Amino acid sequence: MSVVSRSSRRAVLTGLAGTVAGCAATPPVPLAAGFAPRRIAPILMEPERIIRITVCTRPFRPAGPRLDVETVGESKVVHNYGHGGSGWSLSWGSSAIAARKAMALTGVAGGPPVVAVIGSGALGLTSALQLQRMGARVTIYARERAAFTRSMRATGSWTPDSRIADADRVSAEFPALWEQMARETYATHQTYLGTEGDPVVFSDRYILSGAADLPRTAEPPPIRTAPGVKPITFAEYRLDGLAPRSFPLPVSASPFPVRETRMVSAMQFNVAELAHRLETEFLSQGGRIETRTFNAPADLTTLPEKIVINCTGYGAKALFEDKDLIPVRGQIAWLAPQPEANYGLHFRGVTVLSRPDGIVVQATRNDMNGVGVDDETPDRAEANATIGLVAPLFPSIRRLSSG
Ligand SMILES: Cc1cc2nc3c(=O)[nH]c(=O)nc-3n(C[C@H](O)[C@H](O)[C@H](O)COP(=O)(O)OP(=O)(O)OC[C@H]3O[C@@H](n4cnc5c(N)ncnc54)[C@H](O)[C@@H]3O)c2cc1C
Repeated sequence: MSVVSRSSRRAVLTGLAGTVAGCAATPPVPLAAGFAPRRIAPILMEPERIIRITVCTRPFRPAGPRLDVETVGESKVVHNYGHGGSGWSLSWGSSAIAARKAMALTGVAGGPPVVAVIGSGALGLTSALQLQRMGARVTIYARERAAFTRSMRATGSWTPDSRIADADRVSAEFPALWEQMARETYATHQTYLGTEGDPVVFSDRYILSGAADLPRTAEPPPIRTAPGVKPITFAEYRLDGLAPRSFPLPVSASPFPVRETRMVSAMQFNVAELAHRLETEFLSQGGRIETRTFNAPADLTTLPEKIVINCTGYGAKALFEDKDLIPVRGQIAWLAPQPEANYGLHFRGVTVLSRPDGIVVQATRNDMNGVGVDDETPDRAEANATIGLVAPLFPSIRRLSSG
């Protein structure tokens, strides 16, 4: 077991955020002789290049994702929702657990087991594929097809412990379950590496600090929380030895005008391509997708399938009246794609990640930001401020175009 406790109630974490938080504890690794960082293309970091602003609510549950089985009339519902900011990062592993539970309920009657999946986001698609791989005949029922789900508004980083549980309210067994989900997901995503369309890649990330000399052209956007919301101690976990570790670059080797640069190679989901690939794979293996909205659990009993996996994400709050499900709002400003810039960075509490479908610019500096907020209205002022915080790292387009 390699989930490591960082303190009595926290375990150590991974991912880009983890790399940032773990900097102080990580001993410097000397650069190999002859190492020089690759030249990078500057990102055109200007509000005028925004192509869309997306907002969504992370489905956070203090006890972690819901994976129990509920009886609704004659139907058995296996829940698979509530993955906070880690839906893509825990998808395959969580869905394998849900699919095994569903298969165990199908019995031994003739013909392949028949199972329904509700929802077509990260958890719905991976549940449907896991079921198919276990030999089931599967229909997905969903209000929105994959391209229109909240999952499409994710950053696209492997962040398996992002807002996944409240350290004060999670069970002692959860870290082991989390490890199982994280390991299986990390391994299964890697089966898509190097395949057509690059749905999953590893990209360079730069973690930047020590920028006192750089101008500040914007103030951080205000932290939003719902009135009366209780503080949450978000649980943090790390899997030692699974993902590459960050290492420091000397100032002379950094492509950025800051004093401290760390670099790491991190898993990236090109979410538009990945969701399209999963949907195509599901359909090509005989899966069916039907557009359907369910207003109450009893509606599920009208389906021909009596075994159902519920992957409705934040939608489960209304559908199953889950009072434990807390929205955690997050906004991304998307800049026009720049295929020549194939990296990400973290600076002044902002995450930037270049993807084929746009460049993610997202304020990620405070865990409590967006807690309890279910307003999904895009905020242009927040987008402009977030871009302004990182813009001093890059030459301005106006200066470039004026020669
Ligand atoms: C800004 C932001 C950035 C993020 N970045 C990352 C990241 O980098 N990495 C990561 O791993 N995670 C990230 N996440 C978290 C991730 O997006 C979620 O955990 C994930 O999308 C949840 O997926 P889901 O399939 O459970 O839900 P959803 O994507 O919301 O899908 C729910 C499905 O259920 C359907 N549905 C809902 N209610 C009903 C109903 N009543 N009837 C019929 N159908 C219904 C919907 O139509 C949809 O098809 C991020 C989240 C935010 C907000």
